[in-house]
Amino acid sequence: MSKRLLVRNGSVVTPEGVLELDILCDGGRIAGLFERGAEVAADEVVDAAGKLIFPGFIDPHVHSRDPGLTQKEDFAHSTLGALVGGVTTIIEMPNAIPPVDSVAVLNDRREQHEQVAWVDFGLWGISIGDSNLHELGPMIEAGAAAIKIFWGYALRKDTKQLVYNLGDEPLENVILPPDNGTVLRVFEAVAKVGGLLAAHCEDRDILASSEADLGHPIESYDDLLRARPAIAEATSIAVASQFAKSTGCRFHVVHMASAEGAEVVRQARSQGFPLTAETCPQYLSLSAEDYERIGPMMKVYPPIRGVQDREALWAAVNDGTIVSVGSDHAPHTVEEKAQGLGTQPAGGVGCETFGPVMLDRLFRGDTTPERFAEVMSTSTAKLYGLYPKKGAILPGSDADLTIVDPAATWTVRNEELVAKQPTSAWNGFELTGMPTMVILRGEIAMKDRKPVGAHRGRFVPAKHGER
Ligand SMILES: [Zn+2]
Repeated sequence: MSKRLLVRNGSVVTPEGVLELDILCDGGRIAGLFERGAEVAADEVVDAAGKLIFPGFIDPHVHSRDPGLTQKEDFAHSTLGALVGGVTTIIEMPNAIPPVDSVAVLNDRREQHEQVAWVDFGLWGISIGDSNLHELGPMIEAGAAAIKIFWGYALRKDTKQLVYNLGDEPLENVILPPDNGTVLRVFEAVAKVGGLLAAHCEDRDILASSEADLGHPIESYDDLLRARPAIAEATSIAVASQFAKSTGCRFHVVHMASAEGAEVVRQARSQGFPLTAETCPQYLSLSAEDYERIGPMMKVYPPIRGVQDREALWAAVNDGTIVSVGSDHAPHTVEEKAQGLGTQPAGGVGCETFGPVMLDRLFRGDTTPERFAEVMSTSTAKLYGLYPKKGAILPGSDADLTIVDPAATWTVRNEELVAKQPTSAWNGFELTGMPTMVILRGEIAMKDRKPVGAHRGRFVPAKHGER
């Protein structure tokens, strides 16, 4: 007999509105929604008075570095961090060692991660140009949530790790960045099977010439912005939108960071091109002005830009141009992140602060609870083929709930984070509005930032081509 859990007295946030409903969970699913106070038999009751109840947050952009780079992070730590931050499902990026470039690796990775996962998870597959074109369809059929192509990046031949600076490696050791002809073939291959393709969009030729124009190594935050101008992002998105239009392939811009990029996506979508975009909490809550306080720890690619970019990204969230938010949890070691701005690797921890940072912005009035539920859960689930199993508070959906106390505050402290290498850009920031409980498939899995019970995250296969 499964336990019937009733969540009473909360305000249930859905994309359609905030509803005063009681939620009955049974057998891991949502068994029914009832008018507040209705007589419902249950084995356990959670009183959510004064709380907002969201469909469980989904973080679709997590690099757990596992296997291969587990000195930086591992799957147990990233999924525990996600859980205590209010997330019920993550989608893991494919660039571990070895990368998820075939069905065989996808199945291995699924089995490996199920041993340690604290939350449910999907898996990305990787495109390595022409060399694994024939694996893209089978990976999508095996349940991959999407295919990521590292457009503009060379890869090491042995490990398929990204090469950030081509000059660092002897040419015989690298797979050169895919040219646009190859990228177009990848769009065609993914279109054929109804999958979703995504990429980091920053045009590599523009980055190279901007860096050359700078004429000296990056010393200040302004140098970093000059070396990676917004036109690089906008140009790359414009090319992708033409490829999406001509092939019919659904294309998703990950971690979009500029007003210019958002405008290209908006125009392409208004013409009916199958283009969507993601942004991240760092681009929605920080700006270049925060460099003085945070320092090099806020180095990410694409870089965090000006206040006007942050505001344009919120406008894009609110008008539907941006459909999903992801953390881009991309940890490096504390020692690596302690290097100067020019030399340290881009990226940092983010899955534990993903929910709290976004909630802090919600309660500052940057968006509505309804739109928040969409970009943090519902439309993310739809995009990656997980809906309505995930991303919905509807009878039959997985009973994944994130319960939020709008009045609770939390000061982020690196030493209290779950991450193996705690290097948060928000270290010292006080945030308002906290996930105080997570229900994962009908059972309480987190309370007051502490896990409850054992880890029991499962792989969630994506279903594409059903819409
Ligand atoms: Zn990423």
